[in-house]
Amino acid sequence: MYPNLLKPLDLGFTELRNRVLMGSMHTGLEEDKQGLHKLAAFYAERAKGGVGLIVTGGFSPNLRGRLHPFSAEFSKEKHADAHRIVTEAVHLHGGKIALQLLHAGRYAMHPFAQSASAIKAPIARFAPSEMSERQILKTIDAFANSAKLAQQAGYDGVEVMGSEGYLINQFICQRTNNRYDQWGGSYQNRMRLPLEIVKAIRQAVGERFIIIFRLSMLDLVEQGSTFDEVVELAKALEQVGVTIINTGIGWHEARIPTIATQVPRGAFTWVTEKVRPHVSVPIVTCNRINTPEEAERILASGHADMVSMARPFLADADFVIKAEKQQAHLINTCIGCNQACLDNVFKGKRASCLVNPYACRETELVEESATSLKTVAVVGAGPAGLACATTLARRGHQVDLFERSDRIGGQFRLAMQIPGKEEFRETIRYFANQIDETGVKLHLETEADFDLLKEYDEVIMASGVKPRHVDIQGIDNPDKVIDYQTLIKEKTFLGSKVAIVGAGGIGVDIATMITEPLENQLDDWLHDWGIDKEIAHPGGLYPFPDTSSDTEVWVLQRRKGRVGKGPGKTTGWIHKRTLEKRGVHLLGGVRYQAIDESGLHIEQDGEAQLIPADKVVICAGQESVRPFESQWPEFCEKLHVIGGADHAGELDAVRAIRQGVELGLKL
Ligand code: NAP
Ligand code: SF4
Repeated sequence: MYPNLLKPLDLGFTELRNRVLMGSMHTGLEEDKQGLHKLAAFYAERAKGGVGLIVTGGFSPNLRGRLHPFSAEFSKEKHADAHRIVTEAVHLHGGKIALQLLHAGRYAMHPFAQSASAIKAPIARFAPSEMSERQILKTIDAFANSAKLAQQAGYDGVEVMGSEGYLINQFICQRTNNRYDQWGGSYQNRMRLPLEIVKAIRQAVGERFIIIFRLSMLDLVEQGSTFDEVVELAKALEQVGVTIINTGIGWHEARIPTIATQVPRGAFTWVTEKVRPHVSVPIVTCNRINTPEEAERILASGHADMVSMARPFLADADFVIKAEKQQAHLINTCIGCNQACLDNVFKGKRASCLVNPYACRETELVEESATSLKTVAVVGAGPAGLACATTLARRGHQVDLFERSDRIGGQFRLAMQIPGKEEFRETIRYFANQIDETGVKLHLETEADFDLLKEYDEVIMASGVKPRHVDIQGIDNPDKVIDYQTLIKEKTFLGSKVAIVGAGGIGVDIATMITEPLENQLDDWLHDWGIDKEIAHPGGLYPFPDTSSDTEVWVLQRRKGRVGKGPGKTTGWIHKRTLEKRGVHLLGGVRYQAIDESGLHIEQDGEAQLIPADKVVICAGQESVRPFESQWPEFCEKLHVIGGADHAGELDAVRAIRQGVELGLKL
């Protein structure tokens, strides 16, 4: 069914069992106590699930290349010894694994950062020092030493991180390299560092060891590489002995989304396709590939020889095996939300996955058959209820799932209707199939009450949330005011001027929905973000076109400070940038006075203002739904409350699904 995806890849001295590369992800386990043991379990699951070649998170070849002061390093015999547990676990399941070597350069979050030139990154806290010739040569040796140790540890190869704006990328581009010696100036000089590193590694490890080079093919920053330069480097890398070239898209400091859910699927594979004819080594494409169908389409169209997927393997370790067994409908699809993976890592927490809380907790969340089987009622088929019901049923319990509406999904059903969040539909599809697979008995359009539930051994209330009622004079006028749930469900016409009360995740989503341009083809999306498909401009960028919306929108909050970022740590800037591009007014520190025919009356900085809105949309958070709550105490210990019904404030799908799974494992 996926002939291109599942076809082995012959590398001459070794063979990969399919065209799937699990892209590098920092999980936080790299630095954890007992981390390598947990990391081994994490990778073993993915190898067991059929991945062809796994690439680890980034390990620094020396002290100064660490991203954070306590980031993992791989430079000593003791590191090689410690990592054997990882490589053995992967090999046990027929997989292959490469260690990623990453020198952070000026992205290092410590005062010993080094780079080609002493130019501070806009996202860094410390300015780097300029590397001396001696330091450059020692760094090349460090890469070679680490690669040799990786080989000793049983790794099948290394990936040299040459993209995303890290050290090697900093040498390659004029943006960060204004040296005058043999490591700067002309392009030949700027690309010397990656070539010397690969040469030194090849010399250290011999011919029968995989060297992947992650090449930044589209920098998406000013003074980045042009297409001709990318091709020149790709050819030179082939000459010095790389086995595989992987694609890198966008520096970390680039202000263009490259992996978030609003990026269309496979949005950047055309970049790899452009480079591919110029080299003969296998070339890997990546970014927002999350289904076997999409991966197969990309390979069949000749865009690349392999696909790299990273987050999809947090969402489902068995992605490949399910594709092989014609069970793609059972894959738990990564929805590109970043909420439990990258957001966690950026907060210094361990990565996991919103749709799969088991990810990176393989040794802690273990699903075992229940010893005493029970009858369980779950009320509410939103994310929390679905996660709990299906976990319980997989363990052997007899589960009835009651849902008041005529379909499952809860808040995800609303989310999937927001432009750029269509992926949430996949989670509902996954749970719908899990209900069938696990034998949960689903009762739609069924209002649960005490009498219905009282005979069950366990009762789980996952009854969700409703929009918070807000007290503003005139709020009860339905011609003028609408809550976000009704708006999304009924797609009501709002007029040309809209005020949004509340600037949390949902206020931002609603503003995005209202101002969404009609066209939604990939080329339109690339154009809107100023991406130059010819890569003729350095970095592949040209000035942003005018994308302001015809609908005038105000997003308001009472709190002072930044408005419009929403809750996501790694996606907030994308939301804000999107709204700014569309000309949305973002107002903080407001007091709501009244709503009348003329619009929304507010006060800001002591001054009265009228927002001449045709409609006011209320996105002011949620309240828990707790039906027949007065009778809950009668359930005694068999009652459990999860998700929004438990806590509506900071309603959060990561917490809801994790709570559902954890309870499902406990009973
Ligand atoms: P929220 O994030 O709690 O935001 C509620 C907004 O309403 C705030 O801006 C708050 O600002 C305002 N507000 C609260 N009480 C109010 C009142 N009585 N009167 C007027 N304004 C009031 O809630 P949400 O936007 O509904 O989002 C719910 C959750 O869904 C989020 O926490 C998030 O976890 C999830 N979500 C996530 C994303 C994402 O992209 N990651 C997107 C959508 C939703 P002031 O109090 O300052 O006025
Ligand atoms: Fe994908 Fe979201 Fe899971 Fe991250 S948290 S792996 S983006 S579904």
